[in-house]
Amino acid sequence: MNRSDLRYLHRELFKWWASNKRPFPWRNTRNAYRVLVGEVLLHRTRAGQVAPVYAQMVRRYPSPAALGDATLSELQEVMSSLGLSWRIRLMHQMGRDLVERFDGDVPKEQGELESLPGVSHYIASAVQCFAYGFPVPLLDTNTVRIAGRLLGVEVTDGSRRSKRFRTMLASLLDEAHPREFNFGLIDLGALVCKSQNPECGICPLLKVCRLGQVHGQGAAPR
Ligand code: SF4
Repeated sequence: MNRSDLRYLHRELFKWWASNKRPFPWRNTRNAYRVLVGEVLLHRTRAGQVAPVYAQMVRRYPSPAALGDATLSELQEVMSSLGLSWRIRLMHQMGRDLVERFDGDVPKEQGELESLPGVSHYIASAVQCFAYGFPVPLLDTNTVRIAGRLLGVEVTDGSRRSKRFRTMLASLLDEAHPREFNFGLIDLGALVCKSQNPECGICPLLKVCRLGQVHGQGAAPR
């Protein structure tokens, strides 16, 4: 994508997102601990289910130190409605690790973040971007799907872990506004550029989207 198309993409995405953003509570903070807790809870879980549990978590455990003091059975009480019992054990161990290995702080470095129990590459990148403002691409099903459609590259099951898609998303990123860019793409994927039946006719990125242009002429996007 050339520079002028990229400028257009950023401008239109941000304009769209300003009036369509999904107001989740874990987005209203740059506190790294809160962002981390939110992202761990969101793993393989719908945002609507996470919201009440997130609220309870940050109320009962407002800091890594408080989470580090929590017992496993206390966490089970708060988190059990979300299922995934292995995640409760990882959250418990994560609290202890934050206190014991990082003096109660959330690290900034990707490798250190990923060394925490329950923290995947995606979660580490999300903390870097949403809490610390680092210009890192986020590869999830939504962002990968949009990048593939924008640039006319087929998306497969492995795309979320592929270097090619990481490079593609890095090339699209607005490095001056990484939070807005990543939140905007995630929301566009959830609300407009959906997996089935993307709504290209109302999409703010149609003009610079390879597949959207083809779709507009009658072909079905994948
Ligand atoms: Fe997705 Fe269509 Fe928008 Fe392209 S134009 S990003 S395929 S909704």
